[in-house]
Parts: sequence; C-alpha cells; structure tokens
Amino acid sequence: MRKVLVLEDEDSIRSFVVLNLNRAGYETVEASSGEEALEKLKQNPDIRLALLDVMLPGIDGFEVCRQIRASDSKVGIIMLTARTQEMDKVTGLMTGADDYVTKPFSPAELTARVDALYRRLGGESAPASNGDEISQPPFLLNCHNRVLFKNGKRIKLTQVEYSVMHLFMTNPRQPISREEILDRIWGREYYGEVKIVDVNVRRLRLKVEDDPTNPSYITTVWGFGYKWNVG
Ligand code: CA
Repeated sequence: MRKVLVLEDEDSIRSFVVLNLNRAGYETVEASSGEEALEKLKQNPDIRLALLDVMLPGIDGFEVCRQIRASDSKVGIIMLTARTQEMDKVTGLMTGADDYVTKPFSPAELTARVDALYRRLGGESAPASNGDEISQPPFLLNCHNRVLFKNGKRIKLTQVEYSVMHLFMTNPRQPISREEILDRIWGREYYGEVKIVDVNVRRLRLKVEDDPTNPSYITTVWGFGYKWNVG
C-alpha cells in the first residue's frame, strides 16, 4: 500500500487532502502537529512520502522537514505553502524538501504532484543499464543503493538530488537544459516552475563542490542549463 503522511493543522484542509489522496489510491496517516508527525513517521516506517504544512502551532513544517532529513530518512517530502510565503518556498527546498504545492491547490494538482514524486521515489530503483555503479573519480554513485560517495566519503542526498546526480553522471560533459532536467526528474505533468531545478542544483553544489561559491563539478551553461564536468 502506498502510504502518505499528511501534516496539516487545519482540519478542513487536512480532510480535503486525505479524501483526495484516498480517492487516488493512497493510504493516509494524519497528523495535526509537527511533533505528532515525527512520532507517526517513527511508528510507520513504511510511509514513503510526507506532505508537510509550513505554518503550525508548535514546531513548523520546515523544522519537521529538517528533522526528517537529519534522521537520514528517504521519505519524499512535499511542502504545503501559502501563496504569501514565496521566500519560505525556497527555504523549504533548502531544508531538504523535494517539492512544494502552493495553497490553494486543486485535487488534480495535488495528486499529480504526489504521483510524480512517488514515481521518482520508486520508478528508478532498477539499476542503471551501465551497471550498479558509476565511477567518476573522485565521485562514485551506487545506483542500487542510490548513494553518492566523494573520495570514499558518503554524501547524503535526498531522492530528488540523487536523481539529478544520476542524470548528470550518465550525461557527463554534456550541457543539459534546465527544461530537460525538469522534464526528466519532475515529469512533463509537473505544475511548478523551472526554478526548482536551480534550487536543487544549488543544494547539490553545497554538497559536492570543493568550493560551492566557485563550482567546478556542476557548472552553469548561461541561458541554457548545467553541465557535469567529471567523467
Ligand atoms: Ca497551517
């Protein structure tokens, strides 16, 4: 069963989300506070995806996101943000969220985003055609366990960051457009903006570059996209 955690303190919105996810074939676990969400995640290790509201009475959605990532969980995370929280959107992605949906959202948009992230989480678990490992010193990508190493040291990636790295490492030294990255990772039915690619690349640079302010592994191809310079 595809299990999703829904963290939302407003009962009406939570019921709306739960109802629509249930209709789309998802099982849901509900939480109305951040603390409860973290507890439910512990009790339900089979939860693969979490929808996190940002504004909550206790700890906020960003903090919940941060704590989930700190626990090295592979749970996919979608933030539910209000339109007035433009800045928070980016903050949320920088804390390790995979995607965000802006309120108010339609049932179709919500389930499309959840379906898309679910596909990304599960759809690429099959080993890459070029074997289980891609070795491009100093990097090593283990495609079976979806883990990246640099100089033998593990770099923690979210599922989406892994997918972006996999795309880069299977297309070394080739400029890839931001639109293509968006298409390949988020899918054609993605409702969001291409900006999400930049945010994920920025986050990846913080993790893989020797000097993130002067990137050499992931370089920008101006007006086009990005290029992986290893391999
Ligand atoms: Ca709220």
